[in-house]
Amino acid sequence: MNIITELNPIINSLNESDKLDYIRKIIEVQQRINDLIEENQWLKKEKDKLYRKLEVWNLLKFEDDAYWLKDMKDGMQGPYCPKCYGLEGKLVPLVKNGEQCPNCGYTRRKIRL
Ligand SMILES: [Zn+2]
Repeated sequence: MNIITELNPIINSLNESDKLDYIRKIIEVQQRINDLIEENQWLKKEKDKLYRKLEVWNLLKFEDDAYWLKDMKDGMQGPYCPKCYGLEGKLVPLVKNGEQCPNCGYTRRKIRL
């Protein structure tokens, strides 16, 4: 939407001497509207990111010194590194039979019986 185009009939009805002031004000308002549209788009993206993080957080379970994802169809997925999730919000799968993080080197205690 371009407010100048929308308001052309009104601008054309103004006296020549008033037109410039009105156009300047309309351009200022248009810029504010554009800034608000950009901010709104950014906020929507941030909301979506936070919503996805919250979805993951709601599915996470901490057990045996690691995070696990409760998946409806596959049961539990994991283990994931608790240090990487806690510090960076990343789900990094543990390697070496689910004992070690390839990103930060975290090692899970072996408490198997
Ligand atoms: Zn890690």
